[in-house]
Amino acid sequence: MLALDRMAIEEAGPNCVRLAAEIHDQLRHKGGEVPVAAIAAALDVVEIKEAPLKGFEGALIAPDDRNFGAILINSNSSLSRRRFTLAHELGHFLNCWHRPEDPAGRFACSRADLATRRPKSSASAPRRVVQEAEANRFAIELLAPPRLIRPYLRGVPDLAKVLTLSDELGLSREAGARRYVELHAQPSVLVFSAAGVVRYVERSPAFPFVSCRPGQRLPQLPSPADASGLSAHEEADSLDWLARPGRGALIVQTLSQRNGYAITLLAFDAAESGDDEEEI
Ligand SMILES: [Zn+2]
Repeated sequence: MLALDRMAIEEAGPNCVRLAAEIHDQLRHKGGEVPVAAIAAALDVVEIKEAPLKGFEGALIAPDDRNFGAILINSNSSLSRRRFTLAHELGHFLNCWHRPEDPAGRFACSRADLATRRPKSSASAPRRVVQEAEANRFAIELLAPPRLIRPYLRGVPDLAKVLTLSDELGLSREAGARRYVELHAQPSVLVFSAAGVVRYVERSPAFPFVSCRPGQRLPQLPSPADASGLSAHEEADSLDWLARPGRGALIVQTLSQRNGYAITLLAFDAAESGDDEEEI
């Protein structure tokens, strides 16, 4: 059985990134899926139960002193989602600042909670929003620590790497793609869509604003090149995509998924911008 020193981990305080980093410092995990159930068990989560749930994806039941906890997971969800939910609930359990809002004293987290991102200004954000965003941040830091993502970050941004790392680490393609772009040195943007309509956009801070907004129709996307649903990198017309076009050659790549869902990656062609610099 895995042994972890919970007191040393909780010395990281309520900082979700440091909590996950401290677990990994102790764990020394070599590669492959992070053993999230064994980690939870080693940190006093005495029961992890899966059952069909309606209206929420996971719940944590724990006394106020958090001496122990029990976690419930929606068995109807995919394996990658169940792993994320378990990591999210563990994030609530280990964060001494988190308090349940449920009158029954439990954390009950919906699909929307599991998609909550850190608000731009957390000072005025409701406590629940901040807690849910922090549990999500903990989950991705635990399941996809920078050390395990680093080997995939060489070269131009490529959704083929996202497919590989998501499979290796047991992440959904969506979570894997966000983590990849977040940690990649070359700025890029992800456009998540369903049936050709934008769901949301995730952009590296250094990448220019894209013109598409949630609810809007996308330009024609590149077609899959093989059964994986992945397209080649194609040249994109920056007029189609950028709010202020004209900053070098843009490349586009799309991963077509089931039921009309797609992930589209945009980046600047590094080779071409290198040539430009030489000409100057
Ligand atoms: Zn939650």
